[in-house]
Amino acid sequence: MIRYALICEHSHEFEAWFAGSDDYDGQAGRGLVECPWCASRQVKKQIMAPAVAGTKKGADPGPAEMQSVMMEAMGKLRRHVEENFESVGDRFADEARAIHEGDAPDRGIYGRASPEQVRELAEDGIRVGPLPAAAVPAAKEKLN
Ligand SMILES: [Zn+2]
Repeated sequence: MIRYALICEHSHEFEAWFAGSDDYDGQAGRGLVECPWCASRQVKKQIMAPAVAGTKKGADPGPAEMQSVMMEAMGKLRRHVEENFESVGDRFADEARAIHEGDAPDRGIYGRASPEQVRELAEDGIRVGPLPAAAVPAAKEKLN
C-alpha cells in the first residue's frame, strides 16, 4: 500500500491509499479519484516537501519518525480545535453559513459536512477546512 498526498483543483489537500503507483495511475486516469471536500475529480499528486523541525541534529528523520512527528502535529491541531472551537455536529454547514451572514455569533466551529455542503460553502466564499482524522489512530496507539 502507498499513501499519496493529493490536491484537487480547488487546492483541497487530502490523502488516499493505493495498492501501488500503477493502481493510482489507473484510478486517476479513469477519474475515480475524488476530492472528499468538493467531490472534484480534477485531482493530482502533491509535490511533497515535508518540513520537520526539532529532530536529532544532523540525522534525517526516518520514515517512522517522520510519521510520528506528523501524527503528533495533527493530533495537536485536532486537540486545539476540539478545545477552542464549538462542536456543532451535523449542523456545521448551516452554522458556518449563519456565522458568515452575521446571523450567529462569530466563533470557531467544527462538525461534519458532506462534500456537497463543503462545495456550496466554498462557492459562497466561506472558508472551511478539513480536520485531520489521521490523528485519531495515533492517539489510540498511545493508550495501548
Ligand atoms: Zn476539492
